[in-house]
Amino acid sequence: MHAQVVEPIHGSKRSNHLAENRGMQSMTQQTPEEILAGGSDDDDRALRPRRLRDFVGQTDIKEKLAVAVAAARTRGEALDHVLFSGPPGLGKTTLAGIIASELDARLQTTSAPAISKPRDLARILTLLEEGDVLFIDEIHRLSRPCEEILYPAMEDGCIDFVIGEGMSAQSVKLHLKPFTLVGATTRSGMLSSPLKSRFGLELKLDFYSEEDLRHIIMRSAALLQVLVDEEAAVEMARRARMTPRVAIRLVRRIRDYVTVEKIDRANRAFVQSCLERLGIDALGLIELDRRLLRLMIERYKGGPVGIKTLAALVDEEERTLEEDHEPYMLRSALMEKSPQGRLATRKAYEHLDCLHLWGSPDRPNENRQRTDDDAHTPDSQSYLF
Ligand code: ADP
Repeated sequence: MHAQVVEPIHGSKRSNHLAENRGMQSMTQQTPEEILAGGSDDDDRALRPRRLRDFVGQTDIKEKLAVAVAAARTRGEALDHVLFSGPPGLGKTTLAGIIASELDARLQTTSAPAISKPRDLARILTLLEEGDVLFIDEIHRLSRPCEEILYPAMEDGCIDFVIGEGMSAQSVKLHLKPFTLVGATTRSGMLSSPLKSRFGLELKLDFYSEEDLRHIIMRSAALLQVLVDEEAAVEMARRARMTPRVAIRLVRRIRDYVTVEKIDRANRAFVQSCLERLGIDALGLIELDRRLLRLMIERYKGGPVGIKTLAALVDEEERTLEEDHEPYMLRSALMEKSPQGRLATRKAYEHLDCLHLWGSPDRPNENRQRTDDDAHTPDSQSYLF
């Protein structure tokens, strides 16, 4: 019951990692034409801001984009390629859509895991019309041969391919119409430097303030036609993990309770009670986050614990923990990362009522012992069960 209700609040929009690995790879079955025609399958589409002025927060990024878009429009040129990085749910896809709207251009959307062959990527590029914005989500997951198709496409507006084999092989250059590539990544460190260097604008999205989230919550509640008190919105903002996608999903869940319990208006007490029933605590943690921290504290004396160990213990993919759970826990100082693994902070001990297990408050790491697991590099599989 718990997991079913809570999981969608944190699952990433397009590709649940576990589902992907279990073979639900519908996008990989698509032809390039279908990928281009398909657009986003995000059910939050109606809530997505369409214009820069409606996009809440991220002032610095909005300013940079506004200048770049205005300059491109004035010169009648395609906008320089843009790379967005940051944890899931912060607005990378939304900004790609906004760029297209602001340029009055078509948006073509795909994601790197959907592009298995360089030939498919070449086809997508040749189908682009002048001025199109091509959005590639999870761009760090492009294969090297696909990346190599992108280099000349981004730099010189052409693609090179080889026709024939052996002695009769011939290299052919095909010119593309001017386009803008917008890449999004949750792992900018995994992007190769040749690819990174071909983006003219590299923009890193930051977590949101409570005030920005409150704003997003009130806007979404109005669009979803659910009445929410200001104070209730503040409570939701506090538990939204600094992330708009989570904030919007909380609004949807509250709307469910409002409907079922026939409430006219959600006030703070009602929201608190709903969120508690959903297993979302005062810091926005869900059961899985608490389990992770508890394991670190109770089994590993606070850590360090290797990510593979944690993933195996909670039966989740490492990538899910690294991309969907850790960034917020690191940012909210519940967890720390060291070369040896993850550590629970004093704040985590306090939050989980485990302070009696904390060593010396003056020397916070004294209670921590290195475990055998942590002697392995993050890539080592050998200690897995
Ligand atoms: P990402 O691509 O970074 O995973 P999305 O662009 O899909 O994130 O955003 C997730 C949800 O949050 C979308 O429904 C979007 O409309 C909403 N959202 C994200 N950022 C903002 C923002 N700054 N203002 C309003 N809504 C936002």
